[in-house]
Amino acid sequence: MNGHFAAVGDAPTVAQYEHGVQVIDEDKEFNSNLGSYLQATDVADAGFNYHIISVFGSQSTGKSTLLNNLFGTEFNVMSETERRQTTKGIWMSKNKTASMTDNILVMDVEGTDGRERGEDQDFERKSALFALATSEVLIVNIWEHQVGLYQGANMGLLKTVFEVNLQLFLKDKQQSTPRSLLFFVIRDHIGNTPLANLRNTLVQDLTKLWSTISKPQGLEKANIEDYFDFAFATLPHKILQPEKFIDEVKNLGRRFIAGSRSSRTKLQHGEQELEGGLFLAEYHRRIPADGFSVYAEGVWDQIVHNKDLDLPTQQELLAQFRCDEISRDVLILFDATIGPLEEQQAEASRVGNPLVLADLGDTGKRTREKCVKAFETQASRYHKAVYARKRTELESKIDQRLKTLYQGQLTAAHKSGVTSFSDAVSGAVKAGQKSGAAYEFADIVVAEKAKCSDQFKTEVHNLTIPGIAWTNFVPQLALFEKELDEVSARLRKEEMRRLATRVERWVKSRLGDAVGLEFNKLGSGRGGLGAPEEGEKPPTEKDLWDRIWNVFISIVKEAESRFTDRAKSFEASEAEVEVGLWRLRRKSWVALREKVDEEVMEGNILLKLRENFEDKFRYDEAGVPRIWRPVDDIEGIYTRARESTLTLIPLLSRFRLSTTHTPPDLPAFIGHQPAGAETEDEDDLTPIGGVDEEDGKSLEEEMTVLSEGKRQDLVVRFKKMADGVYVEAKRSAIGGVAQ
Ligand code: GDP
Ligand code: MG
Repeated sequence: MNGHFAAVGDAPTVAQYEHGVQVIDEDKEFNSNLGSYLQATDVADAGFNYHIISVFGSQSTGKSTLLNNLFGTEFNVMSETERRQTTKGIWMSKNKTASMTDNILVMDVEGTDGRERGEDQDFERKSALFALATSEVLIVNIWEHQVGLYQGANMGLLKTVFEVNLQLFLKDKQQSTPRSLLFFVIRDHIGNTPLANLRNTLVQDLTKLWSTISKPQGLEKANIEDYFDFAFATLPHKILQPEKFIDEVKNLGRRFIAGSRSSRTKLQHGEQELEGGLFLAEYHRRIPADGFSVYAEGVWDQIVHNKDLDLPTQQELLAQFRCDEISRDVLILFDATIGPLEEQQAEASRVGNPLVLADLGDTGKRTREKCVKAFETQASRYHKAVYARKRTELESKIDQRLKTLYQGQLTAAHKSGVTSFSDAVSGAVKAGQKSGAAYEFADIVVAEKAKCSDQFKTEVHNLTIPGIAWTNFVPQLALFEKELDEVSARLRKEEMRRLATRVERWVKSRLGDAVGLEFNKLGSGRGGLGAPEEGEKPPTEKDLWDRIWNVFISIVKEAESRFTDRAKSFEASEAEVEVGLWRLRRKSWVALREKVDEEVMEGNILLKLRENFEDKFRYDEAGVPRIWRPVDDIEGIYTRARESTLTLIPLLSRFRLSTTHTPPDLPAFIGHQPAGAETEDEDDLTPIGGVDEEDGKSLEEEMTVLSEGKRQDLVVRFKKMADGVYVEAKRSAIGGVAQ
């Protein structure tokens, strides 16, 4: 043997495939390198576009020589001088003759020597079974002089072929095992006997042979033509007529060209002869090329262990194996694209930072499509039911992962969408406040909500795969929009609070001015420096509280209408406005009470009383300062002025309207607590006597400005102070005379 061999167990390289690949070795071992041979020769990707031919015949009948001449293969042949068997086991080689159909795989099967039986017969049977399970065309190589020798070795071989074929069909309930072509190539044809005669002899023998084989139960009536077509050809003696041999081989080669026309004719016993092209679709075993090595191995395993060879089961097993393999490859493809995205997402959620992956919808859709398509292209050639099941399995694996990824994506989009909405609204409000320009809260909310909703909608749209139910994310969109509404409600409430604070501040400042003014008026007595402008009704001290109440009411009314206008502009609800106004009235009252308390603080009120008193005591009716003379009724003026000012103290002590001599109707003014106010945070609301009944403080108490004790204390202090002024006046009167 010269050159290299890719025998069982060898690590293959392309160079080692020069002689093809030994599929089964002499020890009946299957060569697991068959797959890589098919890869190396580009057959593996051919789908169904390949053909398998086997050659049978006695040892040393020129089989390998024929194949090498016909297909350009380099199977080892017996050297002309040594004459010993060369082909061991089963070899396979890809056709190298360019003019023939692509991807013809030729199997050179070890021949049997008619003289030696026993162990050989076992291999003959096994190899025949293997060849029938895989090959479309079985070439039977036979010498011309062997034709008609019914007892010869060839007939033994054919008997085996027929028997194992029936055995295959017995198992094949769905009749998926196709017909085969038995192609008789008659060698060393001298030419005296025409091919037609040789054919008739062969067919006669075959008929006879068929009738003698024992047919399994159920197939007793089977006809030979149900399983086999026949074809015949002769070749001249290679050594004696080398040129003619070459020409005839060339002619024979034309029958291995796809599309070369075929026709079938009936022979005498119903057998069918195929003329022209040899590759009928119905001969094809329909094993996808990329699964062939696995299938062949499975088939051989069954054969070698003498198990019943059940091709449909083998095909189903092959489909499962290959579909799983293809599925694994496809998932690697899927992983390459989707894996890194899953990691990014997991990492982001680990650090609590929602990550919206760019173009996820597009990537997911494309990857899914690519993977399913890749699976379909390869796997759909296998057993239909298995393929369908494995495809569903693959899709659900892919979808499971995409689903997790997509849900994570929407969770992130939801989170970041809500945050950016809230930030954008707050930012716009802040910017509006800073610039001092009028801003419309409602407009800001509407604009930002539309922006965020659109963004989310786009994401949902991108993630949706038409026709895939689980990619319907309409509920997630609804949830997102609902949360935006909740956030806007919260932001509006905050905006209301801000508005309320602004209005309250305004009320406070207005009250500060107005109430301060009213108290300042106390400083001027009758006709003093604080005399009223002409035409104005002079203020009487008696209606101090009426004036304060009225100015309070008018300030609050104005504040209320400011608040209402503003709140309406950002689409606060009636109820929200009502609550806001209620709070505003309460806070305004509290502000008023604080202002009043400030005015009646000891030092402040004493000063006011002193001014009031001095105004009455030291100035005359015309507002001119008195210069005390000893004759003046200092005591009388003093007493009147003092008594007059003293009447202010009880007046100041209680908030009472002069018209009714009762406190103003504060509960009516503030009104009932509106529904919905309960949900507000009320910690900041100061309880008001007579309004908040559960507080235990009465309206009378609320309206008490100076307690009894403070009042008496104030009387004492005032009197002391007035006495001092009196003494001073008295002194100045006497002193004025003395000077
Ligand atoms: P195989 O065992 O059937 O594969 O036979 P081989 O191809 O190895 O050839 C066996 C012998 O037959 C070799 O010595 C060849 O030279 C010879 N041989 C090849 N072709 C022919 C032929 O057409 N006629 C005859 N008579 N001998 C041939
Ligand atoms: Mg050989």
